[in-house]
Amino acid sequence: MADVLVVVDHVEGLVRKPSLELLTVARRLGSPVAVVLGAGASETVSVLAGHGAERVLVSEAGEFSDFLVVPRVDALEAAVGRVSAVAVLLVSSGENKEVAARLALRLGSGVITDAVDVEVGEGGPVVVQSAFAASFTTRSRVSRGVPVITVKPNSAAVEAVEAAGVVEDLPVEFSEGARGVRVVSRSARAVSGRPELTEAAVVVSGGRGLGSGEGFALVEALADALGGAVGASRAAVDAGWYPHAHQVGQTGKSVSPQLYVASGISGAIQHRAGMQTSKTIVVVNKDPEAPIFELADYGVVGDLHTVLPQLTEEINKRKG
Ligand code: FAD
Repeated sequence: MADVLVVVDHVEGLVRKPSLELLTVARRLGSPVAVVLGAGASETVSVLAGHGAERVLVSEAGEFSDFLVVPRVDALEAAVGRVSAVAVLLVSSGENKEVAARLALRLGSGVITDAVDVEVGEGGPVVVQSAFAASFTTRSRVSRGVPVITVKPNSAAVEAVEAAGVVEDLPVEFSEGARGVRVVSRSARAVSGRPELTEAAVVVSGGRGLGSGEGFALVEALADALGGAVGASRAAVDAGWYPHAHQVGQTGKSVSPQLYVASGISGAIQHRAGMQTSKTIVVVNKDPEAPIFELADYGVVGDLHTVLPQLTEEINKRKG
């Protein structure tokens, strides 16, 4: 069976959920071969084998944490040379998209970014993208070489499937450009204790209807009651009420949780683009004509300052 390279994102050996989703996609296309780079790479093996990785190519060279982008491109070029890959899959992130583009250039192949699905096709993988704020769905295929594809988080389910997980050392010869951009400092992001927005099963979002930054306390309380992440509309972010890292939508993050709660959000197309694939959508809005109700599985017409605290209290009561 043809190999499919899956580039694993991890933090010191802790595999990020979207990488496990990539293994699900890879199993459709062939035999998943994970590539894990950087400190702690070898600690990922049992998790990857437990999610379908037949082989795990590992390199823990210091270059991956000390320098940006190019060392990873060098390693992936080496990985492609080692297996008979029909595709290289990466999680869609800023750095990964740069890695993907440079890798495709080196391989003389093509790159497709921000896939929402990858299907099996006759002439190679067919990549599904959502375009123009999700108004169109496109299907494309790389026409030559090994396709390099970045896939958005939450595009597939994580599936526990035991596989061999045979570990192989990946020797990497670093190119001249590998030490071009050095990381000079790192600072940890403040930890909220809530799940990562793009990975969360529950997202509670707030918009301009909250009326102020303080209003987000209501959203946070509900998110905490549900064990979820907090999202925000661009209007709320632009007003300085919540950090941009939490913006959901066309120019923010795409989320596809089991449950999305939109409170005080009107449902502009640019917001929908980032959340309309959520499995169940609950809306709280005082305007019954708000377009977001078109997407709602459950809707409450009312003032969120009354509805959200009641909802949070009721959930906490039932949990207790
Ligand atoms: P509004 O549209 O003002 O809606 C507020 C809602 O709150 C209304 O429906 C109102 O009825 C309701 N409300 C008010 N008070 C209460 C209350 N007390 N209780 C309950 N409900 C109440 N937007 C995004 O979100 N994400 C993006 O990534 C994004 N990208 C964009 C990219 C471009 C190029 C452009 C042009 C725009 C983009 N936008 C984006 C902006 C988008 O067009 C909207 O302006 C924005 O989503 C509106 O945010 P909102 O729904 O919070 O505010």
